[in-house]
Amino acid sequence: MGAPRQIKIGILTAPHIEYELRARTFVLKRVRIGIGFHWDRREDQEFQGALSIRNNADGTQTAINTIDLEDYLCSVISSEMNADSPMELLKAHAVISRSWAMLAMQHPNHEGYDVCADDHCQRYEGIRRMNERAVEAVRATAGQVLTNEQMVNGKMVNLICDTRYHKCCGGRTEIWSTCWEDIDVPYIRSVECPYCNPSYINKSLVDGTSLLRTCLNDYDRETEDFHDWQVTYTADELAQIIRAKSGIDFGEIIDLVPLHRGPSGRIDSLRIVGTRHTETIGKELKIRLWLSPTCLYSSWFDVKKTFAPSSIRPLTFTFNGHGWGHGAGLCQIGAAVMAAEGHSYEEILHYYYANTRLGVAAQ
Ligand SMILES: [Zn+2]
Ligand SMILES: [Zn+2]
Repeated sequence: MGAPRQIKIGILTAPHIEYELRARTFVLKRVRIGIGFHWDRREDQEFQGALSIRNNADGTQTAINTIDLEDYLCSVISSEMNADSPMELLKAHAVISRSWAMLAMQHPNHEGYDVCADDHCQRYEGIRRMNERAVEAVRATAGQVLTNEQMVNGKMVNLICDTRYHKCCGGRTEIWSTCWEDIDVPYIRSVECPYCNPSYINKSLVDGTSLLRTCLNDYDRETEDFHDWQVTYTADELAQIIRAKSGIDFGEIIDLVPLHRGPSGRIDSLRIVGTRHTETIGKELKIRLWLSPTCLYSSWFDVKKTFAPSSIRPLTFTFNGHGWGHGAGLCQIGAAVMAAEGHSYEEILHYYYANTRLGVAAQ
């Protein structure tokens, strides 16, 4: 084994970073989490490792934390899910968060650091949500990543998987190309997932409600309709939202027409028909962003319109939707329920990521 890997996390960019140095930790004030999503908020967070403050060209500052990768993971799995979740869920999460982070360190998404601390990359909210169980899960899976065998230059090699995950699939997981590039990623398959359905959870587990309480963090528990949800806008509200998010004046919105769906039902191509402008948009995230003041839970929905008597202009649009997140890879709530039912972390990983192997990453 070589030296431990260090990861650089950009935690917060602000006009002026407020922080407090403690004996072994530091506290950052008013860190924004859930940026642009429906649980967007600020909180003070405490971190281990080193802090550096970068002065940016635009006059803002960025707080960057440098820390051992394995210590980073203890915080990530306690931020993405609750550290009181079933142990096999925490272990499965440690493996996918490690796999994803190691790929991100090879190809950083950000300038000056490897990953950010929010949902854009992986949640990393410091040590206050962490406990010894999270540390145990990371230690028990030390160095383990998911790999997939692929042909590179005529040779079969094991490559680290891009292990995307999401909060709740809504009943079926999604494939890569519905969300990102038009490529076939052999381990991101659409699988049926009965586990994240509240009616399944309550039927299968003695106390399903308390499982959800122990596996989700406080701000995630506010989203109770994660599996099936409904949003209604008046036609005026919808036109205003789309105008604000797209910067385009569609006029009145006449129709929303799904042109293509992925295997879960998530729409990746949607035609927005307005009185002044019509445009087809995709993929799933753009659709979610344009149809909500924040971000719609998912792009898996049907649209129902109501009309005033003898009018062809809709009065209201109702979205009946399923799931929370892009739907590709592991379903976090489903995986927590599988763990509570007694499945091992290997079984959970192989369920959501087909054609993969669990192995220790080479240095
Ligand atoms: Zn990021
Ligand atoms: Zn699911």
